Amino acid sequence: MSPGRVHAATTPVALNEACPLLVKRLPGVSLAECRNSMLSPSGVKSRSGFPILVRDIAAPGVASNKKALRILLLGGIHGDELTASALVFEWMQWMHHPEAVHFHWKVAPIINPDGLLAPKPQRVNANGVDLNRNFPTPGWREQAASYWARSTGSDPRRFPGNTPLSEPESRWVHDEIERFRPDVIISVHAPFGVLDFDGPAPAPRQFGRLMFNPVGVYPGSLGNYSGVHKNVPVITIELPNALAMPTEAEANRIWQDMLRWIRRNVRPGNPAAPARVVKTSTGSR
Ligand SMILES: [Zn+2]
Repeated sequence: MSPGRVHAATTPVALNEACPLLVKRLPGVSLAECRNSMLSPSGVKSRSGFPILVRDIAAPGVASNKKALRILLLGGIHGDELTASALVFEWMQWMHHPEAVHFHWKVAPIINPDGLLAPKPQRVNANGVDLNRNFPTPGWREQAASYWARSTGSDPRRFPGNTPLSEPESRWVHDEIERFRPDVIISVHAPFGVLDFDGPAPAPRQFGRLMFNPVGVYPGSLGNYSGVHKNVPVITIELPNALAMPTEAEANRIWQDMLRWIRRNVRPGNPAAPARVVKTSTGSR
């Protein structure tokens, strides 16, 4: 049983219908920017029927180049972290810049559209599930519910779901990792104002003003699933404010530092690795 089923969103069929709804929630994203974003429906819809939008971005020759690094960039897995999705929109406009053009990007700025578009934006999806606790980490069935009860006091904002990958949004991310086989995943959140990292590379120390400060490993989190168990590094960007955007200068510093770190530390074709046993900790990412 989930702790709270909420609203049903409308069901747009195209970007023209989605954007007027989305930009009401996304600080600094104009209607024209959204409509020109070239995002398209992935074919998978949220619990309430809103399309999960995605864009594949690769300069000519990059997608077929086996040495090109593949980056999966995700925003807004928590629907009340408005700046997380908005920053991904801002960064999408920079992907033809010289520092980014050698990468093959797969970008999904709004993983949890139902949470974003709820009357009051909410962390969980329309089925009341925290999507960032719904990934199939080893031991999920034994750990996720007890961890939720013990460490969060059964906080409805952190309900992990009844089974791993019970939600279409988390299933889409999981399946996209299998299809796209990213070399690195970037997941943007707010509002803890830190940088976190899971996976097989030296952790980044600082992007812009964000300092590395691990916030914890949880049953069912994307960092735990992908970074620790699939051996695909996950950079978690925690912006300092969920509602107010960083300045363009700071957004650019984070972007530049992040791409520099990726160029230095990520190699194409990361093999899958066996699972490791990891202690879980408290926290709230
Ligand atoms: Zn978050």
